[in-house]
Amino acid sequence: MLCPFKFRRTLIAVVFSVSFGLFATSALAQIEFRTLKPDEIQARLQSFSENNDEREATIKRLFVASGCKPDHLTEQWVTKKLPPNVICILPGETDRIILVGAHTDHVEVGDGVVDNWSGASLLPSLLYSLSAKPRQHTFVFVGFTAEEEGMVGSEFYVAKLTKQQRSIMDGMVNLDTLGLGPTKVWASHADKPMLEALARAADGMQLSIGAVNFEQVGTTDSESFARFRIPRITIHTITQQTWPILHSKKDTLKAIRIDDYYASYRLLAGYLALLDSSLGQPAAPRKDH
Ligand SMILES: [Zn+2]
Repeated sequence: MLCPFKFRRTLIAVVFSVSFGLFATSALAQIEFRTLKPDEIQARLQSFSENNDEREATIKRLFVASGCKPDHLTEQWVTKKLPPNVICILPGETDRIILVGAHTDHVEVGDGVVDNWSGASLLPSLLYSLSAKPRQHTFVFVGFTAEEEGMVGSEFYVAKLTKQQRSIMDGMVNLDTLGLGPTKVWASHADKPMLEALARAADGMQLSIGAVNFEQVGTTDSESFARFRIPRITIHTITQQTWPILHSKKDTLKAIRIDDYYASYRLLAGYLALLDSSLGQPAAPRKDH
């Protein structure tokens, strides 16, 4: 989470209540995914390093451990001084893309477990969850570098894409600052169909979702994609009460509520599987596999 504003203003929190009832149930009936057990999710969360280079390397290792094939795993160097973006591709039946991103870096104060090892260390687990069966979309998982320095990694990534590559991107799901409590969404800066799908997933899985908007106090990698009109959504867990934990010495493992964190993981796994079948119009089969 990038917090560029000197004065911490009031967050706008809104209650998010939607009911899709039977529609949710029927939509989720076809959704298949698998989940890692809570102790594995916790172990991955505990594997954080204070060094940003080591963090990137750990994500890379976790991608391999989660089934990312070596030729689908790449690093994208932004500058020589920064750790690279780390990218794992899970090929789908079509070339249409859903990108799942989280920044791997943290600020010097605190351990940066909440902001944002909580998001980054879930990327490989979500790859594992989705690889349970073939997907229509090609999923691209990206651990972004240097978000805290001005969304450097995500801006570089999206700027390097061609117009054609941006046009096949059906959605970007950004994970930043999980585990502080029940799952929240930055609703005011979310693509509407992606927001509605999130509500359906939460409703169908009977998991909590709320909306907390934070444009008054900060921003994050999803906005690099919004600039190019790529549909995006940010999932987080900050509230007015927990906001002061970010970029403070209180950002440690102790700040994580592990049950809520695991619930966010399950929701995200189901949500991404649902997005695969509900976003865009995947039509043309891939030709290269
Ligand atoms: Zn931050």
